Amino acid sequence: MNNRSSSSTVLTNLHQENENLVLEPLLPSNQDIEQSTNGLLESEEQRDFQSVCFTYISRLRNLRSLMTARPSRQCCYDSLKWIPVIFILALVTWSYYAYVVQMCILIYLCIYHPLLILFLWSYYRTMFQPTVGPPKEFYISDIEGQQIKSAQTIDERRAILVRISRQANLSLLTRHFDGSIRYCFVCQCIKPDRAHHCSICEKCVLRYDHHCPWTNSCVSYGNYKFFVLFLCWAWIFCTYVAATSLEYFIQFWKIVSNIEKNGDNTVPSSGKFHLFFVFFVSIMFGISISSLFFYHLYLTGKNRTTIESFRAPIFESGPQKEGFNLGWKRNFQEIFGTKFFKAIIPIPTTRGDGVHYQVNSILLGGLQQPTTNPIRSNDNDNNIISPFIRSDADILPFE
Ligand SMILES: [Zn+2]
Ligand SMILES: [Zn+2]
Repeated sequence: MNNRSSSSTVLTNLHQENENLVLEPLLPSNQDIEQSTNGLLESEEQRDFQSVCFTYISRLRNLRSLMTARPSRQCCYDSLKWIPVIFILALVTWSYYAYVVQMCILIYLCIYHPLLILFLWSYYRTMFQPTVGPPKEFYISDIEGQQIKSAQTIDERRAILVRISRQANLSLLTRHFDGSIRYCFVCQCIKPDRAHHCSICEKCVLRYDHHCPWTNSCVSYGNYKFFVLFLCWAWIFCTYVAATSLEYFIQFWKIVSNIEKNGDNTVPSSGKFHLFFVFFVSIMFGISISSLFFYHLYLTGKNRTTIESFRAPIFESGPQKEGFNLGWKRNFQEIFGTKFFKAIIPIPTTRGDGVHYQVNSILLGGLQQPTTNPIRSNDNDNNIISPFIRSDADILPFE
């Protein structure tokens, strides 16, 4: 009776623990948020923006649990997730009409169109780049999954995970907070370093950063460069539109003030209304995007994901926020490559395979590097190993 009771307690704990694992990427605790503010570049605007995102995702998750109860509602739920994307595209279409048709200044349009193309191209790549999951050797068999679920103690579960990872020759540097190998009960796989389970996409994703409702995709290893470029080009685009439509904004206000002061009956044309709102919307979005863009530039310079900024990755020696920091130059090269022209357009330049990562050898000197580390030491972009030109089978450890 006691055994059965302790077994059920362990199973309940395991279940709860798994729930926490699933939720941890998206809903950091207050304590985590407090920790993250220590020495981090976090403004009030960023926190506001993040809290809005977290609230949106949290409500989306609640809605999903309600709607996916019936399979027929799954389709409806999937459609709802595209609402923010449709909103952005509708706004861009309207601003295109206002700027190109109503304003129509040829010299301005020569710069406007390349910026628009780069912005939409980055946005498209962020949305539709397939997310990269753990390679097949990280997934375990049903029998092994049952063994883990039915483990009586945490030590027993830890021993099983160590045995499985050794048998599959997996190189893992990070650990769960209880010291065991990180495991996803939902996907039934051992999590590679920096991988996390996305509870919106319902799968484990390599170098998981966050799930972005504005792109309806997981920002992760496969599309992180595209996401940063999307923010970059969107910010430049908004700033350019705001700067070039400022003159029309001032004209609009002069007309309005003349009406108020002199009783002038001149009513601003509909075109001037459009340009007034184009300026207003571009300034508003430009300011919002800039905080997120510079925050992600900071994270890239530190080689840190959004989750890792909330909760430091745990190595065998303990938590270490700077564990993957190789210096800002190498950190940027890991994502953007070494060629400037290739770095600023949304083409694949991210190095590595998303599974193996170099660590800061000064901070984690005693830690063994993976024997099959694919990150090349030279600076030649031709040697970049990209998931975009390889099949899943090819994303196995390299030579
Ligand atoms: Zn998972
Ligand atoms: Zn996701």
